[in-house]
Amino acid sequence: MSNVYSTNSPKYNLHLKWNDTRKEAYLYEKLQNQKVQCGLCPRKCVIQSNSVGFCKVRKNINGKLYAQSYGKAAHVTVEKIETEALFNYAPGAQILSLGNFGCNLDCDYCQNWMYSQFQYTKPEYIHEYTTQSIVEITLKNNVKILSWTYNDPAVWFEFVIDTAREAKKYGIKSLFKSAFFLSRDAVIQLCD
Ligand code: SF4
Repeated sequence: MSNVYSTNSPKYNLHLKWNDTRKEAYLYEKLQNQKVQCGLCPRKCVIQSNSVGFCKVRKNINGKLYAQSYGKAAHVTVEKIETEALFNYAPGAQILSLGNFGCNLDCDYCQNWMYSQFQYTKPEYIHEYTTQSIVEITLKNNVKILSWTYNDPAVWFEFVIDTAREAKKYGIKSLFKSAFFLSRDAVIQLCD
């Protein structure tokens, strides 16, 4: 599977406006004519300059692929682990749930479609965080588990890895709630 995606979209076309070069994507290849091929998931999008992939949050800016949603979260909420449909792991534990925008899937039944289908995301849904601020919020609330959830965290790959690595220093674990529609290289990096 490999496609070049257009950037046409309805009203809330934030993915066209964002040109955030803070975080270069961890998994991609440079092709000819400033095209790139994303290596994060099996869609393997070939993306032209100034365009985004299927998930709409990975953008080619002048021949480099950037993670546009790095540090941008929809929800940061303290709740019980059972809200994540987990039963036999850490019963009753408090978790910090985090979600962001875009998705490499497009399920008809998605209950978080206003975040996962990025063309419907409104600017007021978006809040900025850093890896350190997430760890601080987690420690302040005496929480020991981060839950990457709401949309598929696959497309928040770089921020998840950077934050999970920082959080691990404080004994904080990460729950990656995903369909795991990921490339082999992505899974290997995540397991680390
Ligand atoms: S993560 Fe996004 S840009 Fe990358 S291959 Fe998958 S859908 Fe395409």
